[in-house]
Amino acid sequence: MTIIDGKKVSALVKEQVAEETKLLKAKGIIPGLAVILVGDDPASRVYVNNKKKACEEVGFKSEEFKLPADTTQEELLNLVYELNDRNDINGILCQLPLPKGLDENAVIEAISPLKDVDAFHKQNVGRIMIGDYDFLPCTPAGIMEMLHSYDIDVDGKNCVVIGRSNIVGKPMGMLLLHENGTVTICHSHTKNLKEITSKADILVAAIGVAKFVKSDMIKDGAVVIDVGMNRDENGKLCGDVDFEEVKDKCSFITPVPGGVGPMTIATLMKNTLKAAKLQNNA
Ligand code: NAP
Repeated sequence: MTIIDGKKVSALVKEQVAEETKLLKAKGIIPGLAVILVGDDPASRVYVNNKKKACEEVGFKSEEFKLPADTTQEELLNLVYELNDRNDINGILCQLPLPKGLDENAVIEAISPLKDVDAFHKQNVGRIMIGDYDFLPCTPAGIMEMLHSYDIDVDGKNCVVIGRSNIVGKPMGMLLLHENGTVTICHSHTKNLKEITSKADILVAAIGVAKFVKSDMIKDGAVVIDVGMNRDENGKLCGDVDFEEVKDKCSFITPVPGGVGPMTIATLMKNTLKAAKLQNNA
């Protein structure tokens, strides 16, 4: 069994981004990422800080816009429009979830597709569907990068994704399909979940329920990718997979923390670099 080291792979990705950023800077271009945080959700705060830190590491400019929880839809949209118009900002991300009363879809659609480094805008989502895209959503793309770096071939494999969110589950299924996996997407209405997951060569868990995936749901030798970020009964960070119970049955498994999370951020850096290059024809 191999524990996939997301920290190591993400460090390599960030190194590559930093190298390319140096070349861009020599041409007078500094990639800029705007991060909007509305309200004071502690988990969102941690994610935003990690993203800012990664920007520093690779040499980007990052600007944080911290808005109070009672921000109106109009105020938030006006900020997005302002950022769309700024030449020094190449990527815009609005940390989700937004406080109640704010319309996430409207905010996503307001972000210019050229600056949509999360790849949530419907124009970018549609382009991913047909396989002609500039940006891929950070978490699924980060997972694909991890699979590649461990030479895990998806072609012809039975791939099962638990979860069908627009952010993780659905695009994950699409990226596995693009690499010729035979994909099944499961969700809370799926019947006989265990039967389906125990046939998976590659299992991706994106559920949001601590330690949901147990060893009787896993095929011997499966590759198990854990997207979950939950707190266990002791308040400790844990995934959607019961790592201790499952690990010896797997050929590869991602830990939480140190698996998918760092890859998500590294892919955000890649997307922001690409946005800067596209916007400057560099
Ligand atoms: P989400 O929008 O809440 O979606 C969860 C999905 O799991 C839904 O499709 C839901 O089915 C399904 N589900 C829930 N209970 C189930 C059950 N008992 N059996 C089968 N399916 C079930 O969550 P998300 O945004 O995709 O995130 C999932 C997890 O990944 C969370 O822990 C989140 O914190 C984490 N996450 C981590 C990263 C990272 O970088 N590491 C990034 C994003 C998210 P229905 O659609 O039928 O409700």
